[in-house]
Amino acid sequence: MVPKVVFGEGCFDQLTTILSSHKKDKAPFIYLIDDVFETNTEFIDKINLRFNDKLIFVSAAEEPKTSQVDELVKDIRSEFTNLPSGIIGIGGGTLLDLAKAVSIMLTNKGSAADYQGWDLVKKKAVYHVGIPTISGTGAEVSRTTVLTGPVRKLGINSDFTPFDQVILDPELTQGVPKNQWFYTGMDCFIHCVESLNGTFLNAFSQSYGEKAYDLCMEIFLKEDSLSDAESRAKLMMASWHGGMSIAYSQVGVAHAMSYGLGYVLGTKHGIGNCIVFNQLEEYYGEDVVLFKKMVEKHGIEIPQGVCANLTDEQMEIMINVAMGMVPLWENAFGEEWQSIVTPEKLKELYLKM
Ligand code: NAD
Ligand code: ZN
Repeated sequence: MVPKVVFGEGCFDQLTTILSSHKKDKAPFIYLIDDVFETNTEFIDKINLRFNDKLIFVSAAEEPKTSQVDELVKDIRSEFTNLPSGIIGIGGGTLLDLAKAVSIMLTNKGSAADYQGWDLVKKKAVYHVGIPTISGTGAEVSRTTVLTGPVRKLGINSDFTPFDQVILDPELTQGVPKNQWFYTGMDCFIHCVESLNGTFLNAFSQSYGEKAYDLCMEIFLKEDSLSDAESRAKLMMASWHGGMSIAYSQVGVAHAMSYGLGYVLGTKHGIGNCIVFNQLEEYYGEDVVLFKKMVEKHGIEIPQGVCANLTDEQMEIMINVAMGMVPLWENAFGEEWQSIVTPEKLKELYLKM
């Protein structure tokens, strides 16, 4: 779990104070920042760069790759003789995952791809801080960093992955475009639905999942009485609780199939989950009905026909990637999942998307 967290409008201003006790001699703080902030001087000016601290702006246009992590680590190692005092990730799930992975790979040998899986990391990561600027993925609180590698898209799941410190400042989510707000917010809603309806459910996951689910209902269906600031603050906490819920359970059908879309078509996590979830009434009945109401209420466009022009080979890869997510299917349907989830069934569902 994340051992330290601050929350509240404007709490980003505490960053300098928080970092000061972690500064090591001649060792920089490296900031990995979503490049959407590159021209936002008011925000960037709040970051107090000292000595050899460094800002690296990274595009979130594509989800993080193991090769990208390796490249960043190589650059940091060649520029600085000392290991950094800390890595600070500022952005959405993409930047938060990159920051976690870079901090791990600075102290562990080889390529990030070698550590995709469960508990393969041997050494403690460099001190790392997560500062979300969009809410929903739960990446700020989770024990994983999802990376696309040469052979698979899979997380580095380890006790060294979670951030040492998280700064939850809802003010930072102000500029998020509406569609993106919805897609990433729905990632949280879907985490809750999949956790609460899964066979892995337990009291720990349920307590967090129910809270996050209720917050999502309030934000996306009954939000009319909420101010913008209240809504952003609540979504930030929904994301946190949704992440905590899956920490002790698993996600399910939407995530498994969304991984397939992501792998073959490069569809991003949030929108991919929405495209899939839209077609899952058979499995998540009432919650898919609610999802459709949310889509309508906010006038969101969910892409259609994304699999219409796939080649047979692409479809086969997509199905294999999805079927490979065994724990997700086990959570959704239990040990006998293979009697329900067949390549034919997945093809039928993909063709509806
Ligand atoms: P993202 O980080 O990909 O960002 C989405 C878009 O929003 C980008 O264009 C970004 O520039 C923009 N953006 C972010 N903050 C903004 C702001 N304040 N103002 C304006 N624009 C802003 O989106 P995401 O949905 O948060 O993250 C998706 C990634 O998270 C995927 O790579 C996925 O694999 C990963 N993920 C990780 C976990 C985990 O537990 N580690 C869980 C779920 C998803
Ligand atoms: Zn997700």
